[in-house]
Amino acid sequence: MQTEEIVKVNRKGILAGKKGIILGIANKWSIAWGIANSLHEAGAELLFTYQDRVKDRVEKLAEELGGIKTLECDVTDEALLEKSFKEIAELFDGKIDFVIHSIAFAKKEELEGRYIDTSREGYLLAQDISAFSLAAVAKQAEPLLKANGGGSIVTLTYLGGERVVKNYNVMGVAKAALECSVKYLANDLGPDKIRVNAISAGPIKTLASSAISGIQSMINEIAEISPLRKNTETEEVGDTALFLVSDLSRGITGEVIHVDAGFHVLAAMK
Ligand code: NAD
Repeated sequence: MQTEEIVKVNRKGILAGKKGIILGIANKWSIAWGIANSLHEAGAELLFTYQDRVKDRVEKLAEELGGIKTLECDVTDEALLEKSFKEIAELFDGKIDFVIHSIAFAKKEELEGRYIDTSREGYLLAQDISAFSLAAVAKQAEPLLKANGGGSIVTLTYLGGERVVKNYNVMGVAKAALECSVKYLANDLGPDKIRVNAISAGPIKTLASSAISGIQSMINEIAEISPLRKNTETEEVGDTALFLVSDLSRGITGEVIHVDAGFHVLAAMK
């Protein structure tokens, strides 16, 4: 059997009986869409939330997976966030097993040049959408995960939150805050058996990453020099998310798992 077929067999049934929500699908290139496919194949019942501007595309993708429920949710709108989670509670009888948070945003002009030139407004916007939103979503999800007897929250981060990556700038600082939030949230929610982890994905061409100046040359270089001599694929991130929401990872919380072909172990880029 080819690796792809073996993986499909391995996924089967791992998440049977589990239900959860995925925030952050924009289109078929989204990492969240890769995650949705892995979790769906593993038997999870899903709900997608979307930002208004991508409603049509997300609804189409939800149809492709057999009519998954969808809801609008903008993480900067506290009232909408609350309303969405009320609806989620009704749809899932007050209990969910997992939340996938795959959301980030920074203005394009902040993703090039020097970090020192970041505007106050750009800084606060990137922090709000890309870091604070995890805490805001976790707060809304807490009662639903608690009623379930525990669960798993997974977010997406990037190496630029640990080290300086050219042009990542304000988003790197937001990812550092996000990764630190993962640890604080893991400690807050651990007594209720709610685990919180992050996946640090290697660069993948998506709507969000295309705003980062020089992303394509970074992707080309990683294929040449990463330990696995390849780029990261959304399916690989999806399967790690599958592991993190499954009971197989029950002993893991507050962790950042790199899914980046091993690139993070290298000392420096060219
Ligand atoms: P994407 O553009 O497909 O996804 C980003 C999502 O964030 C979109 O669905 C968008 O609608 C959503 N979003 C932005 N602002 C929002 C708001 N105010 N309310 C609700 N949703 C909002 O791009 P992606 O690359 O799949 O990004 C998903 C996550 O993965 C992000 O956290 C990103 O930083 C992270 N990540 C991406 C890469 C990469 O190279 N693509 C690498 C590591 C980590």
